[in-house]
Amino acid sequence: MADTIQIELSNHSCGAGLEYARRQSTGSAKDAVLCCEGMCLKGETARRAANLICHRLVPEKTVRICHGGLLEKNGGMRDLMQQANQVLILDGCGMACCSRLTKAAFPDLQPEVVFTDKMTAYTGNPFGIDEVPEAEIIANAQNVATTLVRKYYGYCQ
Ligand code: SF4
Repeated sequence: MADTIQIELSNHSCGAGLEYARRQSTGSAKDAVLCCEGMCLKGETARRAANLICHRLVPEKTVRICHGGLLEKNGGMRDLMQQANQVLILDGCGMACCSRLTKAAFPDLQPEVVFTDKMTAYTGNPFGIDEVPEAEIIANAQNVATTLVRKYYGYCQ
């Protein structure tokens, strides 16, 4: 089995993502926030926290990047990355899927990487989102998001 994979960038792009990137590219530069988008509870918590940061808590300072958009030639997400003040990556665990994908797309980038599983308080070692109550996922994602906003922006609403 191969140790590395090559991925061809797509000429297609997501129309809604393109429009989002166009809106976000006007005005002053923001920090780019990515996450691993994993399907398990760890990835789900990271994804929810990243969305809370960018869409609810500090939208004036951050822009949410779709890491799938890094695989598009003209989808706008790569442009937002290059315009960003700094890049924050929320990886759900030490597998660091988003960090590795981002490094492949931007080898010289020095992102700030956070492993969000170190910031959560789930009992045991649940895998799927069906293994814990929804309220617990919400509370953990909220805690991760507010902790990071306080750390990087010094406040939280
Ligand atoms: S970093 Fe961990 S939680 Fe996120 S996609 Fe990779 S394996 Fe899943």
